[in-house]
Amino acid sequence: MIPPIASRFVAGETPATAFDHVRQYNEDGVKVILNLLGEHYADRENADADADAYVSLVRDIGNTDLDACVSVKPSQLGIDIGADVFRENFRRIVEAGDEHDVFVWCDMEDHETTDITLDAFEELAREFDGGVGQCVQANLRRTREDLERIVDVPGKIRLVKGAYDEPNDIAYTDKASVNEAYREDLEYLFKERDDGIAVGSHDPKMISFASELHAEYGADYEVQLLMGVREDEQRRLASEGVETWQYAPYGDKWFSYFYRRVRERKENVLFALRAIAGV
Ligand code: FAD
Repeated sequence: MIPPIASRFVAGETPATAFDHVRQYNEDGVKVILNLLGEHYADRENADADADAYVSLVRDIGNTDLDACVSVKPSQLGIDIGADVFRENFRRIVEAGDEHDVFVWCDMEDHETTDITLDAFEELAREFDGGVGQCVQANLRRTREDLERIVDVPGKIRLVKGAYDEPNDIAYTDKASVNEAYREDLEYLFKERDDGIAVGSHDPKMISFASELHAEYGADYEVQLLMGVREDEQRRLASEGVETWQYAPYGDKWFSYFYRRVRERKENVLFALRAIAGV
């Protein structure tokens, strides 16, 4: 069972607990992106099993009236085993999404997976007419060119700052440069697209910049934040009519995800300590 301190960041261990979570946030107008925790599988069996779980999840979401979709990780679907394994599993999930009218996002992992991931996105988003979304990372120096390549692809593009420690020759490694790249990439998306732009950031400056860009260029956008992070802001945005999605992981592999959230920010450590101390 997930201890209460971790349940701030993880929507339980099963689809049933995840659905309860979705229901609760939907009541406040916040939509939910479900992510089954799991990554870097070295065995095809595990990758196929998680793909099966996503196919069932997508079908189950489609049989409810919940505002929910899914987000998968390439290494969970087998990219470390082989590009073909990832593509086959990703395709199965997108086919299920198409059948049950459930949107499928793909996270972006380290730079060695970028080409394979973007190729798969482009192929599937074109074939399934936009039922797929792809995350791109502003910290990678290549991203502007990648955006030029995929800007006309149907579906959605989620812009994040980038969570992976990448070498300086391929990535901006200081915060100021990443922020500058983020703003430039976001503006490019608003200029070039009419919709399908997702701001995957907790940064108040980026969220308000998106609102300014929307006013200037008119393109539709959504904001995506992680479960357990700035949840008051998630509700506030939704109540103001901004399409707001919460990325909520669930599943039995919750410990490393929780540990990452706690390590990356001192407020999260304090929250965890306070919960342990009962204050
Ligand atoms: P930061 O630059 O970390 O912080 C900027 C400001 O945001 C802070 O000064 C503060 O005001 C506010 N803020 C940030 N965190 C908190 C907090 N915990 N509590 C309160 N205020 C806070 N990365 C990938 O590499 N691949 C992915 O597929 C991916 N998917 C993601 C999906 C979603 C929905 C989100 C939200 C993030 C995703 N990320 C992904 C992570 C992303 O790359 C960043 O590492 C992460 O979001 C931190 O950057 P930031 O823009 O939120 O803000």
